[in-house]
Amino acid sequence: MENKRRKVHEELEVVKVGYANGVAEGFPLNDKEKLKMIDKAEKAYGKFLDALKCDWREDPNSMETPRRVAKAYVNDLWEGRYTAMSPITSFPSDGYDGIIIERNIPLTSMCSHHHQTIGGVVHIGYIAGEGGQVIGLSKLNRIVELFGRRGAIQEQLTSAIHNAVDKITEGNKGVIVTIVGTHNCVSCRGVKHHGASMQTAKLTGAFLNEDSCKAEFYKNIELASICKH
Ligand SMILES: [Zn+2]
Repeated sequence: MENKRRKVHEELEVVKVGYANGVAEGFPLNDKEKLKMIDKAEKAYGKFLDALKCDWREDPNSMETPRRVAKAYVNDLWEGRYTAMSPITSFPSDGYDGIIIERNIPLTSMCSHHHQTIGGVVHIGYIAGEGGQVIGLSKLNRIVELFGRRGAIQEQLTSAIHNAVDKITEGNKGVIVTIVGTHNCVSCRGVKHHGASMQTAKLTGAFLNEDSCKAEFYKNIELASICKH
């Protein structure tokens, strides 16, 4: 099972093993390996707080913080670097040749540059090929989780999700992925501007070559109204 997962996963990876937006060496880690990593990261984060002259060992609110932070990275924020998604199941499209869209898939990620969180939504559309396969709807959410739960830059994250959907729906007539993200590294540090959102899109096949296809997708996701919020 582990080998199969690894194989499915390897085909979808586009960046070097070990990079913040790639998987960790030895992926996927088992529970014992994750615990060992948490222990090691906890110690290192304690030193990080020492460097910031934070007396975390005495502070009742902070004494468990190094372990909390280590666990949050391994189990949640960077989960996609350590934990594989379950294998993707696909089904015959049974003659359906229209656009398949899933909109407003929630995104939680973290910018590789500043380690501040990114929140937002992902909209995915694809058209199955002749006699092609469609994939279980929740698998699109799982793909977003796999690549979102890592270090990321939004542009590359858009490409990584697009590449995964494109490969899994092999023979498709087109794939489109749009992300609208808000970056805490913009709102909380640096320029400190709240309310700005970043939009990225990667299009291939019919979405790139046929205006009507692209228009149908954007009309369906009502992107204009989403951007207002
Ligand atoms: Zn950043």
